[in-house]
Amino acid sequence: MSRNHRLLPAAVGLGIAILGHTGRVSAQPSSGLPTVVVLATGGTIAGAAASNVQAGYTSGQVGVDQLIAAVPEAKKFANMRGEQISNIGSQDMNDEVWLKLANRVNALVAMPDVAGIVITHGTDTIEETAYFLDLVVKSRKPVVLTAAMRPATALSADGPLNFFNAVAVAASKEAVGRGVLVVVNDWIHDAASLTKTSTTAVQTFWSPLSGLIGTVAYGQIEFYRGPVGKNTANSEVSVDGVTTLPRVDIIMAHENMDGALIDAAAAAGAKGIVIAGVGNGNLTDKAVKALAAQAKKGVVCVRASRVTTGRVGRNVELEDDKLGFIASLDKNPQKARVLLRLALLKTQSLADVQRMFDEY
Ligand code: ASP
Repeated sequence: MSRNHRLLPAAVGLGIAILGHTGRVSAQPSSGLPTVVVLATGGTIAGAAASNVQAGYTSGQVGVDQLIAAVPEAKKFANMRGEQISNIGSQDMNDEVWLKLANRVNALVAMPDVAGIVITHGTDTIEETAYFLDLVVKSRKPVVLTAAMRPATALSADGPLNFFNAVAVAASKEAVGRGVLVVVNDWIHDAASLTKTSTTAVQTFWSPLSGLIGTVAYGQIEFYRGPVGKNTANSEVSVDGVTTLPRVDIIMAHENMDGALIDAAAAAGAKGIVIAGVGNGNLTDKAVKALAAQAKKGVVCVRASRVTTGRVGRNVELEDDKLGFIASLDKNPQKARVLLRLALLKTQSLADVQRMFDEY
């Protein structure tokens, strides 16, 4: 089934039944419980298929009220209210939704009665959205993203328990000041450290360099450490009043690479280029020359790695100082792109950008 398959309304009904419960969330808040606002953006957690054992499905079919109503058990942690930000597969995530989401989160966390936020999202780009919010949300209150690998209609759907655990974390005082978090499959990741590693497995998210920030089993939370870098209330970047973000492209290195895509990115208006390099952020001599030429013209060029784990160090096999490059350190290419876009809102200085890669 293609992504554009029109879902039979009956399948959505089946999905909600499989999610467990069709009861409505009580309009009456329970006194004494914190308030958690659920912002839905789409993804497989809100996806549905015509049968419970098929691979093909459509993301973003179930609305926020249905998502909340499907997991009434989460009401023991918090009074919940929902808002629909978008209803898209996260492969379609874009700057418009990002800015809308960031502005809404910042407005909500400024409200004294809001204790925390849960954001439902697709798994494909959750690591990028989580890191973006980690850098631009100005609050220590918990902001927790969650997702699912299986649609709401699937046999053994993983969304309901992920949602339950995400609400538990968002309502928890222990989550305060730990930056933006991602809760999936019993694990709590900090936004700076997680990455998607499997196209289909439920256990897809890992934090390969720094490990988990915590775990959550049926709402029982354990935190092991604080966030990896500066974030949220300590972040120097902001999207307050921002309507467009600078273009930054990611280009993957490979055997026999030339400079054609590097030049094309610059010609398309990229203010920054992130290379998903081989090994420790390496690329062919031809590509290095093309990248250095763009760096000389003012395009900010970052060396990251296509390898899943490990740091990309400065001046290892390439002389970044001489070539005018930034080393991504612990950021994978997609995180490096997010950080560079936000850094470029405030500086062009290579020293300043490198410092931010070090600190965030
Ligand atoms: N393509 C889906 C998305 O990212 C996959 C998922 O949510 O698991 O929205």
